[in-house]
Amino acid sequence: MPSAPTYRRILLKLSGEALMGEADYGVDPDIIARLAEEIREVRDLGVQTGIVIGGGNIFRGAGLANAGMDRVTADHMGMLATVMNALALQDALERKGVFARVMSALRINEVCEDYIRRRAIRHLEKGRVVLFAAGTGNPFFTTDTAASLRAIEVGAELLLKATKVDGVYSADPVKDPAAQRYERLNYDEVLDRRLMVMDTTAIVLCRDHDLALRVFDIKQEGALMRIVTGDQDIGTTVDNGTYEPAASHRQGA
Ligand code: UDP
Repeated sequence: MPSAPTYRRILLKLSGEALMGEADYGVDPDIIARLAEEIREVRDLGVQTGIVIGGGNIFRGAGLANAGMDRVTADHMGMLATVMNALALQDALERKGVFARVMSALRINEVCEDYIRRRAIRHLEKGRVVLFAAGTGNPFFTTDTAASLRAIEVGAELLLKATKVDGVYSADPVKDPAAQRYERLNYDEVLDRRLMVMDTTAIVLCRDHDLALRVFDIKQEGALMRIVTGDQDIGTTVDNGTYEPAASHRQGA
């Protein structure tokens, strides 16, 4: 039986890539069902759960712009891609008996609700999972920034950034076997060392509003539950704690 949750309200950032599994495009139904199950377990424990979902498995504005498209149009396509992903996850959650609401920063009322902060908080209080779609609703931003923004707006106690690796490393662990995983980092350290955690806007928002962030591997089954029940050993925590010498942040070799 899982223990009591450490957090009352969380915001989970899922990239579009987290939904596509081994494929190189779109949504993998098995992956999305597993994610929905893990979210259901956390919700059932009483943790109010908001989710910001990316769109990189379908369209990324920067990629389309590099191919010659107008950047603002490309970003509109990217934001619409996040709505598709949110609808897929809403469907998977509802098939597991979890009430979920997609709230979009762009108005598409035939498809989902508009993002209205007070209504989002009400949904969370009622135990509904809120899927924040269409990023911030503005071009030139990312869904990481949307995640920081929504987490602060709805008063989440922790922002969880789901990635493909089990935390933040000193170098790319796929390319550099000597790369070290950090247990804890300070936001200024992330900025000074240009560590690839989230984009600068997202990091600065978290730092200035004192929102703690945990970066973790979403492929590790049960990791989400372990984090919300207080396990400090999962992933990397980023907060405004003391800026200690780098060596003491590293896990033993
Ligand atoms: N996007 C945007 N404004 C936002 C959030 C997202 O224009 O506030 C667009 C942008 O084109 C981005 C795409 O939506 O490339 C998908 O979001 P993102 O790249 O953050 O998705 P992820 O990498 O998390 O899958």
